[in-house]
Amino acid sequence: GCDCKKVMKDNWLLIATVVAVVLGIALGLLVREYANLSNLDKTYFSFPGEILMRMLKLIILPLIVSSMITGVAALDSSVSGKIGLRAVVYYFCTTVIAVILGIVLVVSIRPGVSQSADEIDRTGSSPEVDTVDALLDLLRNMFPENIVQACFQQYKTKREELNLTDPNKNTTEKNITLDLLLATAEPNKTKEYKIVGLYSDGVNVLGLIVFCLVFGIVIGKMGEKGQVLVDFFNALNDATMHMVHIIMLYMPIGILFLIAGKLIEVNDWEIFRKLGMYMVTVISGLAIHSIIILPLIYFVVVRKNPFRFAMGMAQALLTALMISSSSATLPVTFRCAEEKNHVDKRITRFVLPVGATINMDGTALYEAVAAVFIAQLNDMSLDIGQIVTISVTATAASVGAAGVPQAGLVTMVIVLSAVGLPADDVTLIIAVDWLLDRFRTMVNVLGDAYGTGIVEKLSKKELEQMDLASEVNIANPF
Ligand code: ASP
Repeated sequence: GCDCKKVMKDNWLLIATVVAVVLGIALGLLVREYANLSNLDKTYFSFPGEILMRMLKLIILPLIVSSMITGVAALDSSVSGKIGLRAVVYYFCTTVIAVILGIVLVVSIRPGVSQSADEIDRTGSSPEVDTVDALLDLLRNMFPENIVQACFQQYKTKREELNLTDPNKNTTEKNITLDLLLATAEPNKTKEYKIVGLYSDGVNVLGLIVFCLVFGIVIGKMGEKGQVLVDFFNALNDATMHMVHIIMLYMPIGILFLIAGKLIEVNDWEIFRKLGMYMVTVISGLAIHSIIILPLIYFVVVRKNPFRFAMGMAQALLTALMISSSSATLPVTFRCAEEKNHVDKRITRFVLPVGATINMDGTALYEAVAAVFIAQLNDMSLDIGQIVTISVTATAASVGAAGVPQAGLVTMVIVLSAVGLPADDVTLIIAVDWLLDRFRTMVNVLGDAYGTGIVEKLSKKELEQMDLASEVNIANPF
């Protein structure tokens, strides 16, 4: 007979979300065509979408903390070390492959060669960061000074040029876009810069992960005495996952208005023609990576149908496409990996939060393509040393990028300044970044998802041994 009913029943949320996307696009186009909304009206229009984003961000904190701590505490420290190492090797290899793929494509398609930088308008201004500052900030964020503060703030460095000729100008007050001015280091006289420490909004996921990792290992080792904490965080994790389920019920409505609101808001379509070849290069790279390379790796290691696995992740991939944030997608990624693909929870709890933060294949590919594209626009020919520099910094920039919308655009500056390209030129690609961001975020999430399947397969032996050991314990507790 027909099992349509069963398919519908199992996937109704996914189907509802797809329908919401289609309706949202239609609604957005209609409103664009026939209604003349003021800016204020537009904000009201995307309000249901804003609520969805707020809920997803809200759940990230308890989710990351409880899943990391329980994930690590559940494993023997030798086992968690092995699993962690496998995950990191997977992250690293796939990121490097993505970068190389991006470079090969952009060098052969040459999207920037027939144009010059002057043809494309520069919009907005670029952040002032330097390669070294950015890498130091990555480390600073791993070791937050205050764990409570890490729950809502991330450290950022900004360099302010010292105006030595005009002593009246107070450099610390100039052009500060981020909220709070916290630390000012000694001005570096030779460079005539002043380093300004700032905190920006958003969870410092990296700092929390490092803290929870160590905390989880410690309470796991404490045995009897630590058990109350392990139980507490296990209960917190279960409760959080139930809340994720509730949020997901609201998802179709939120997404409908999110996509409609975005379509109403965009007003510069001309730029899409000018940057067309650049976008084609990035998107075909992302497509090759996610349709050929990652599935192939999954197939070689796991020996199962990679596309079936990807279908299991469909809800998460769609969410990433709609909200351009791997961190905010994390709750959905968890549910898909555990409920649909039945990946072992001991793997997902550990591999997914770390992956969402440091494993970004899509971002790495995009950074490499964008940097070479900007070099082409500037008529600069890159030698092999510079190509290697771009590859290395693009990898670092993807690790450093937080899983929030357009973080990759900010860390682009690292790549550009490393090869002596004008950092201001990120403004050349800002206008289309919102669209590319969606696609690269989807690939970032897909890479994390395949990672769970691959690491699970590679760790089969250890996981089975642990199951056996716990069965023995249950059988004779003394
Ligand atoms: N938005 C991306 C993510 O969350 C990061 C990026 O801007 O590339 O994964």
